[in-house]
Amino acid sequence: MSSAKPIREADARGPLVGVLGGGQLGRMLALAGVPLGARFLFIDPNEASPAGETGEHFALDYAAPEALELLAGCDVVTYEFENVPVEAARAIADRTTLHPSLHALATAQDRWLEKSCFRELSIPTAPFFAVDSPGHLKDALELTGFPAVLKTRRLGYDGKGQHVLRSEADVTAAVAEIGTTGLLLEGFVPFERELSLIGARAADGSTAFYPLVENHHANGILRLTLAPAPDVSPERQRSAEEHLSALLTHLDYVGVLALELFQVGGRLLANEMAPRVHNSGHFTIEGAITSQFEQHVRAVLGLPLGSPALTGPSAMLNCIGTMPDPHAVLAVPDAHLHDYGKALRPGRKVGHVTVRAPDGLTLAERLATLRPLIW
Ligand code: AMP
Repeated sequence: MSSAKPIREADARGPLVGVLGGGQLGRMLALAGVPLGARFLFIDPNEASPAGETGEHFALDYAAPEALELLAGCDVVTYEFENVPVEAARAIADRTTLHPSLHALATAQDRWLEKSCFRELSIPTAPFFAVDSPGHLKDALELTGFPAVLKTRRLGYDGKGQHVLRSEADVTAAVAEIGTTGLLLEGFVPFERELSLIGARAADGSTAFYPLVENHHANGILRLTLAPAPDVSPERQRSAEEHLSALLTHLDYVGVLALELFQVGGRLLANEMAPRVHNSGHFTIEGAITSQFEQHVRAVLGLPLGSPALTGPSAMLNCIGTMPDPHAVLAVPDAHLHDYGKALRPGRKVGHVTVRAPDGLTLAERLATLRPLIW
């Protein structure tokens, strides 16, 4: 961490990108953006910042006046963390260019606004109802029936603030924990699998989409991404791209946007969006011609988007709580290790491994070798 003001060294060249949030996503943005000539400044209240090794980190609150001054001196400001206070983001947008838009940030922070936005754009979702009183919850449950999923409207991630309700006893337990206000009740989706689509929009309105990927979670945390998702028809890919494209246009979006989807009975239902680079897109560093991180930096700097085509099949495994032995991982052909340099703590994403292969069978073999090394 730097102690005070850098803003720009007198002889520095290249655009200065301010980033709200200094976690691993910021770190990987800088690792992709520095070769393009960009410099990075991170605001993150945490003293320990994985991004701090790749740019200047200031341990300040997002809304601190000093943070605003630093960010106002940047050519463009972006975020790698979507729970940045909207008022702080608005103050930044008044002083310099902010991408993605405030509209996107505010919508993604509130599950009700987000799902309502999907509905407005005819993007299919599970049935959903705002809950702000015990009466609302009772009425909504009559419409969804059991099972249903009760979620906090704000600040939920990785399955936090979320309860599956299968009985009245579950309702009582959930209400004791999260109350009956500021919530959303959703119908339970008996999905066959979870997919995500990552795309980008440039300032000139051009777009690029990666192929759909398949995601596997444990305890609400992403474990494994398969790229591309097996058995995706061109129609399904096209339909997902149409939904993401509608969102990108509606939100006047510049940068990378991720859309999480459930596949159920031959349909895709949108679950949520992330207005930033996304964990299910980490495979793109080695698995695509242009990584999601480079794509985002290109977009926010007004550069042309790169090709989203895959280099071949790949898989990404998250390292949760511990890092594997690098000797063992790197002995697997075409395996790539990413250590975020974070303190090891249970349940924390501390790194990931991407493995590529010439074909699906070889990928499955390499995954079988890697899994026990990582989990
Ligand atoms: P979320 O915080 O909305 O991303 O949800 C976290 C995880 O909970 C998702 O990845 C799903 O596995 C599960 N989930 C969320 N909403 C539903 C739903 N309506 N029906 C079934 N599972 C859900």
